[in-house]
This record gives sequence, C-alpha cells and structure tokens, in this order.
Amino acid sequence: MSKGTNIHCSFCGRSKSQVRLLIEGQSAHICNSCVNQAKDIVEEEITVIPKKTSEFYLKSPREIKNYLDLYVIGQERAKKVMSVAVYNHFKRIQRHQSNSGVVLQKSNVLLVGPTGTGKTLMAQTIARLLNVPIAIVDATVLTEAGYVGEDVESILTRLLQAADHNVENAQKGIVFIDEIDKIARKSGNPSITRDVSGEGVQQGLLKLLEGSVVNVPPKGGRKHPEQKFVEIDTTNILFITGGAFDGIERIISKRFNFQSIGYKNETKQDQIKEDQLLKYIIPRDVREYGLIPEIVGRLPMVTYLNQLDRKALIDILTKPKNAIVDQYKLIFSLDGVKLRFTKGALDAIVDKSIEDNLGARGLRSICETVLTDAMFNLPEFTQKDFLVTKQYVIRKLANNEIPGLKVAS
Ligand code: ADP
Repeated sequence: MSKGTNIHCSFCGRSKSQVRLLIEGQSAHICNSCVNQAKDIVEEEITVIPKKTSEFYLKSPREIKNYLDLYVIGQERAKKVMSVAVYNHFKRIQRHQSNSGVVLQKSNVLLVGPTGTGKTLMAQTIARLLNVPIAIVDATVLTEAGYVGEDVESILTRLLQAADHNVENAQKGIVFIDEIDKIARKSGNPSITRDVSGEGVQQGLLKLLEGSVVNVPPKGGRKHPEQKFVEIDTTNILFITGGAFDGIERIISKRFNFQSIGYKNETKQDQIKEDQLLKYIIPRDVREYGLIPEIVGRLPMVTYLNQLDRKALIDILTKPKNAIVDQYKLIFSLDGVKLRFTKGALDAIVDKSIEDNLGARGLRSICETVLTDAMFNLPEFTQKDFLVTKQYVIRKLANNEIPGLKVAS
C-alpha cells in the first residue's frame, strides 16, 4: 500500500517528501506532526472530561446548573442550591470510597414551594443528568408500620426497582419525597386530615435519612410475604424532599417581626413583600411548621421555589428543551403539517391556566384540550400549515372540558 511515490498523510494531506515520518495504517497514513497534534487533542479532551467514578460522571455545580437551565424555567436560587447539594453529595461518595478520615455530612435537600413550580421536575432532571436511578414518592401514602398504607421501606423498594434490582446502583440513587409537609405534626397545622400520626412516619423516614441498612422487600410489602429481603444501605442515597408548606409565610413573617423589633429596623420589615417571604425561609421555620427537629437536621439545604408568574408560564410553553409547544409541533410535523401558535394563542392558554389556578401543571392539559380535534383530523388534513390563534383557543376551551389534572409525572 505504501509503495508508490504519491502516498500522503490522510489527515493533513502532505506528501511523504514533505514530512519526516509517515506511519502506515490499514488504509490510511499519518505523519509525525499530525500524531503530535492528535496527542495534544487527546490529552486536552481527557482532562476536561469529568472524573468518572464507578457508574457516573461527577459534574461541577456549574455544569449541573447549566443542565437544569435547559429544562427548568426560573427558580434560580433553587437550581443553584440543588447543584451545590448534588455536587457535594457525589464528592462525598468519592471521598467515602477513598476511605479518608474526615466524614462529610449528607447534603439532603428540602424544596419549599407551591405545587407545580418544578420541584419534581428538578429532581428528575438531575437524576437524568447523573444517570442514577430515582424514586419519586408521595409522603401522604406513607404510614407507620402496622397501619393501612405503605411502610417507609416501600420507598427503597421503588428505588431498587428503578435501579433494575442492582443494589449497588440503588445505593447511589436519588429519592424524591413529595408533600413532606403533609406529614408535619398535627399541632399548629390544621390542614392535616390524616388520622395516622405524621410524627410516626417522620420517625420512620428519619431512619432512612440518617443512613442505615434497611431490609427491603424487593417486590414491595405485603402482597409477597414469601420474598427474600434485600439489604440496602441508605448512607449514600441522596434524599430530596419537597412540599408546599401552605401558610409557612406566617411563621416567617412572625420571625421577621420579632427580629426587626429587636433590631429596631422597621424599614426592612416594610420592604419585604408578603409574596416574597418564602425566600427568607430557614430550617427553624420548617421545624415550627411541624417537621421534627431530627428530620430538619437531616435536611441541611433548605431552599424555595417561586410561584410561576405569567412570563414564566409562557416560557414553559415554548422555551425549555422538550417544551410543550415543541412536542405538539413534532406530532403535527410527523403528519407533514407545520403547527404554529400566535402570541395571542399562547397568552390565552396561559390566561386559562392562571384563571383556573392550574399553574404549570395545567398547561399541557389545556393544550391537549385545544388541539384534540385538530389531532383527530390530522391524517386527513389537506393544508400544510395549521395556525392556532387566540380565537381558536377560546372556542375550543369553551366547548370542551379540560381533563383531570393530576397528570402522572
Ligand atoms: P411540583 O413537584 O413542584 O409540584 P412539577 O415539577 O411536578 O411540580 O411540575 C409539573 C409540571 O409543570 C412539570 O412536569 C413541567 O412540565 C411543568 N413545570 C413546573 N415548573 C416548571 C419550571 N419551573 N420550568 C419548566 N417546567 C415546569
């Protein structure tokens, strides 16, 4: 192959006579200077690739935040806090693996914010980025052992299932516990309707949060009494908890009143708007709300999510990767139809969501309601364009019910 005078480097194109050395491969050649250049590229790439632990890449907080930005609109503070928590958590696991003497405490997170503001979305997005299994559970279904409902161990069953029964992977997974505010102690929290004490469930959860070895029924609790239990160590599982904590603003504002009187700083008190109180939340407020101090102590990172305003809702429709509008555009394009929305149409969808107090959760259902008739007729469409206008949205919403809103996430 190398015979003949016109052989040349397959990368830079220089001929044999123009280079010091030409190395022959199976059906290509490379010269000495391209080898050197390739070596530099390889070294550069390898140093920027994050350090790989056994199954996942350790991302920097900035990388995690950048990724969250692609999917989660707004919620800047929460995204930052989560990025740091997740980064520290996985650093902690690596350190743990290296057996150094210093023990780093877990950085479990508590996300406080109204329903439908992106708490679950944030946890799901992080799990996808890190390629770790995630279990999403609702604290309201958990009960103390012996009561009707699910034992806290069921959380780990779900995680194990999400990890395809690979115990090692499950032990590095993420558990998202939603509605943790609903298991707050009853006293001082009139919204609780359960008759089983929330405190008993909190004690059960504490065991998991603290880090312990738990016997887990791999197929789930009570229906399969014959199954062999699997031991799961929760030490390295990251727990993200979330809740709306309705009315916690009152506790925050009370604390502010006391402080500002104490410091004779009335102007600061005046400046804090009622709807912005959440950003001043501290663990003490959560304790006062009714989470036991031990649980609060195990959730050192407390942050908040804002109620989404109209601009955020419009952005959610159109901006994130996988945005709702883009998904419908794709559905239409598969039938050769270009779907477009006027600004007025998007406004009308958001208006409906605000009017019915549905928040971001309602946007998809509203779009579905608006577009169902068009999607039904799509295969028979003769036109190549379909423009959704404000009038079209209003007409479709007037004629149809919006389907159930508790969409599975
Ligand atoms: P929460 O857990 O706070 O109750 P979710 O994360 O389940 O709310 O949000 C429900 C849906 O609303 C999500 O799947 C997503 O489509 C949309 N959504 C909510 N908040 C945001 C946000 N900040 N950015 C993008 N989409 C959002």
